[in-house]
Amino acid sequence: MSDLLAALDSLRERLNEVPQADERQLQELKTEFLGRKAGVLTEILKALPGLPPEERKRVGGTANALKREFERAIDERERDLKRSTTALSGSGVDLTMPGRPQWHGGVHIVTQVVDEICEIFGELGFSRVTGPEAETERYNFYALNFPKDHPALDAQDSFYLGGDMLLRTHTSPVQIRTLETYPPPIRIVVPGRCYRRDPFDASHSPVFEQIEGFAVDEGISFVDFKATLALWARRFFSSTTKVRFRPSYFPFTEPSAEMDVQCQICGGSGCPACKQSGWMEILGSGMVHPAVLDNCKVDSEKYTGFAWGMGPERIAMLRYGIPDIRLFFDSDVRFLEQFSVISSLLSDRRLKTDDR
Ligand SMILES: [Zn+2]
Repeated sequence: MSDLLAALDSLRERLNEVPQADERQLQELKTEFLGRKAGVLTEILKALPGLPPEERKRVGGTANALKREFERAIDERERDLKRSTTALSGSGVDLTMPGRPQWHGGVHIVTQVVDEICEIFGELGFSRVTGPEAETERYNFYALNFPKDHPALDAQDSFYLGGDMLLRTHTSPVQIRTLETYPPPIRIVVPGRCYRRDPFDASHSPVFEQIEGFAVDEGISFVDFKATLALWARRFFSSTTKVRFRPSYFPFTEPSAEMDVQCQICGGSGCPACKQSGWMEILGSGMVHPAVLDNCKVDSEKYTGFAWGMGPERIAMLRYGIPDIRLFFDSDVRFLEQFSVISSLLSDRRLKTDDR
């Protein structure tokens, strides 16, 4: 066997390098074997005319076959490399870009406050019930002992739907609906939306949440009423939070009281948020008026009770220092998503409480 044929045989072994080569190595292999100027195979083919006819034929055939094998292997490797690059960077995808975290929705801050309030009262035996938002005048006013000439009955103050139907101005109608359906003892909390013809400004909204609380049983006294609400305030705000009751007036309670909690910002020493008083008004309440029980055919000589109405938006504003009620309705995710963290902290706290 001639030297040239031996050289071609050892060149053939180098074919194995092609499928593993990266782009740079592939270019080097291409130049080394097939380069027009100094490629090994090119040189051998150039030397053919000087060979004896018999050798020329054998060397030429082997060299040409090997050249085609190299060309095919290099072509294939080039295509492979190109394909994997396209898969990575094709269609404008930049794989070096950091990933976008998946967006998680959360429970609205007002709903969180409603749930937390109802949960605390739930531990005291209050059931969570709801009622219709479109009410009759009887449920919204008369059965609750509102006189016919009360200003709330004016179309200037309430949204009437035609006839004696209106959008409820408070969740108190559910007191009546419950008294008519279930015999005492009754302990309920009633969260829900209410509607009044109020301006839409920093502290008012024509639609708002309210939580009604209502307890009726034999022997319920003012002490039960104060203790229940004070306990809630200590659970909801902090274990040292003080409350105070100021005389007030509502048609469906007697006596009636506004409940204030110690200012959560200054701790009671006085600050602009509490107008230097150290207290913040938080709910209206009182002992159930005997006329309400009588209107529902419940014996007011035998049964007594207490009721209150609180605004979860206002409570959320106090607790978190939110200056404008309209933020709750804007659906601005930058505002709302701050509270998804709080939500998870609270559920952690609740889990720990449950463990105890
Ligand atoms: Zn204050």
